[in-house]
Amino acid sequence: MSTSPTRIVMKFGGTSVADLDRIRAVAARVKEERDKGHQVAVVVSAMAGVTNRMVGYCHALDPMADAREYDAVVASGEQVTSGLTAIALQALGVPARSWQGWQIPFRTDDAHGKARIEDVEGAALLACMEQGVVPVVAGFQGVAPDQRISTLGRGGSDTSAVAVAAAIKADRCDIYTDVDGIYTTDPRIVKKARKLERIAFEEMLELASVGAKVLQTRSVGLAMKEKVRVRVLSSFAPMTEQSGSLVVDEDEIMEKELVTGIAYSLDEAKISVRRIPDRPGIAAAIFSPLTAARVNVDMIVQSVGSDGMTNMTFTVGKADQARALAALEAESDVIQYGEIQTDSDVVKISVVGIGMRSHSGMASTMFETLAERGINVQVISTSEIKISVLIAAEYMELAVRALHTAYGLDAD
Ligand code: ADP
Ligand code: ASP
Ligand code: MG
Repeated sequence: MSTSPTRIVMKFGGTSVADLDRIRAVAARVKEERDKGHQVAVVVSAMAGVTNRMVGYCHALDPMADAREYDAVVASGEQVTSGLTAIALQALGVPARSWQGWQIPFRTDDAHGKARIEDVEGAALLACMEQGVVPVVAGFQGVAPDQRISTLGRGGSDTSAVAVAAAIKADRCDIYTDVDGIYTTDPRIVKKARKLERIAFEEMLELASVGAKVLQTRSVGLAMKEKVRVRVLSSFAPMTEQSGSLVVDEDEIMEKELVTGIAYSLDEAKISVRRIPDRPGIAAAIFSPLTAARVNVDMIVQSVGSDGMTNMTFTVGKADQARALAALEAESDVIQYGEIQTDSDVVKISVVGIGMRSHSGMASTMFETLAERGINVQVISTSEIKISVLIAAEYMELAVRALHTAYGLDAD
């Protein structure tokens, strides 16, 4: 074990700061690291459930709430926990102070509700640490060019932590959560999920982007770009040298598995535009209005009928479903569709692994496994290291477990 002083960021998620006892436990864990001689900066989420409640308040008043006011409301959970954590540290005799996004400053663009980080000033945080004071940063929030509070999108405290780690040139960014690392799939769904000691940035990026919410997708992209060493570990399990999982460069992984993990996303809605005259330009006629309405389209399949008609089926995020429908209906004269059907009782299941680049037959294992269970595949999409299928939501657990076994991922 290295004895040289190390600068670390410790990020605690919602369940880790869910009540005062847990905040006391967080403070004790921070003190432990500090007692080892490390310089520590802390990043905290809101107490579990608080952000959901705030989002609910905003949408109950107005489903299309002003995004700047939404940010002012939902960022409040992290303001509370940063202050409470600083108080808990002081109670243990550890000098500490809270930092809100605007005080650092933690600058973002003006995309309120899902703002992107532009620049994080490290100087004030470093000066604070130099004085022996532990900075406790409110995650999830920043300040936009309009000088108003911004938030980074749900799960954004992970990205705050990585950005702080990059700004203060930390040796490590430890993400403390309610599971003991990154598993081959969500350990809450599959009991036989196996903990991964190491996972490549690219694989974690892909897994996060298709639903593995253990890390926010942007946090992984940022860590990869800024070369931040990320470790995911439990706030609740005792710490050992084997604790947690490391996200690392691909060449730091000795034994590459064909498939690294399986993820699911219930945040999908399927839209089928049916009986459209099949002619050049029809895909543009459908998808251009969606782009203009800022709707992200994910999976796409076109099925051509024999009567000169075609059907276009695609998926969008559940939150975008109403906006997508309105955009298509506004263009009904141009698209000339027969009807539009929607279905939000669907789930996207994805299998991810860098080994897929060089091995064939990975997709057929997926299709055969689902077929054996009588599960119908509605839409398929692939990338270099991923295969995704859309199926009925009721089969989510069955499909994830069956695929986990089929790809040889089950723990002994
Ligand atoms: P936090 O509040 O600490 O940020 P999250 O709820 O955002 O925690 O993320 C942790 C959760 O991610 C776990 O409780 C687990 O259910 C889920 N999860 C999904 N996929 C995975 C995976 N592959 N490995 C570990 N956890 C996963
Ligand atoms: N509190 C925010 C959320 O619930 C940010 C986070 O937890 O990472 O999305
Ligand atoms: Mg999270």
